[in-house]
Amino acid sequence: MEDLNSGKGIQVLVPGPDHKFTLNEEALEKLLLRDDIKDCPIVIISVAGAFRKGKSFLLSFFLRYMHNKYNLSDGGSKWLGNADEPLQGFSWRGGSERHTTGLLLWSQPFIATLENGDKVVIYLMDTQGTFDSESTVKDNATVFALSTMLSSVQIYNLSQNIEEDDLQHLQLFTDYGRLALETSSGKPFQRLQLLVRDWSFPYDYPYGEKGGQQLLEKRLAIREEQHHELQSLRHHIASCFEELKCFLMPHPGLTVATNPNFKGNLSDISEEFKQALKEFIPMLVAPENLIVKKIAGQKVKAKDLLLYLKSYMNIFNG
Ligand code: GDP
Ligand code: MG
Repeated sequence: MEDLNSGKGIQVLVPGPDHKFTLNEEALEKLLLRDDIKDCPIVIISVAGAFRKGKSFLLSFFLRYMHNKYNLSDGGSKWLGNADEPLQGFSWRGGSERHTTGLLLWSQPFIATLENGDKVVIYLMDTQGTFDSESTVKDNATVFALSTMLSSVQIYNLSQNIEEDDLQHLQLFTDYGRLALETSSGKPFQRLQLLVRDWSFPYDYPYGEKGGQQLLEKRLAIREEQHHELQSLRHHIASCFEELKCFLMPHPGLTVATNPNFKGNLSDISEEFKQALKEFIPMLVAPENLIVKKIAGQKVKAKDLLLYLKSYMNIFNG
């Protein structure tokens, strides 16, 4: 069994000049056409959102869970790890690495058996993009559109609250994606999981799934007196995803947020945050909660995903 430290994030969508992207086909073939997985239905968990908001950090905890649950299969109640263990995985915080945009897949796929006995393969996908201004939002729309099209669960990572801006960005990304999927009927995407980081109003809406769902309902409500644009934005989002969910994440503590020497040790992370991780991660990747990727109603196998990806690229770059 491979240990987690020998895995790494592999850039599969590489930015080029003129806002065009290329696929790292060699890497993708190696990942998706492996004999033992190419015919397995695929589950892809992606995290998207603005830069430096803890996406890769979160995915590294997903990796811990996956590794314990699916590789060590010890039931993994202690999956969160030891107090003084640095957090490995997707490179978080950027550090010395130059910031580039693109999509990364974790080099180690995880194989799971569903309750009905089906074997599926799970990939974790990290996205890198900046959307600190309107122009960078448009430049990076391809990255976010593709990650939405490829994933069975798209985690939309937001800072502090769900703002109208966040919903507008979502509309832009899903519009691109819908364009490419125009021929299919029904809702084009599966689960959208909003994740609000540093939620600081637990007295209005409690941390976790319940508060998240309440906040989401309030933000997505369509009211008669609302401006037409706000209404149509909400209709659009509802029409794109089969499932809309929201989870409110507490602040991880000042060391995580501000200390440059923080290495990811659990002892430096707030109890509330750790508790929320223990709820959130199994909600998405415990065997009974996995969602297999479907395109136009059909389950997608690992090898099919490569074909889809190539055809999407032609559309975006065409
Ligand atoms: P990414 O660019 O979204 O992938 O962000 P990273 O995962 O690289 O994390 C950026 C910084 O945010 C790191 O210094 C983390 O320690 C810190 N961080 C991680 N999670 C959180 C969080 O939930 N809240 C806050 N305030 N900081 C976080
Ligand atoms: Mg990152």
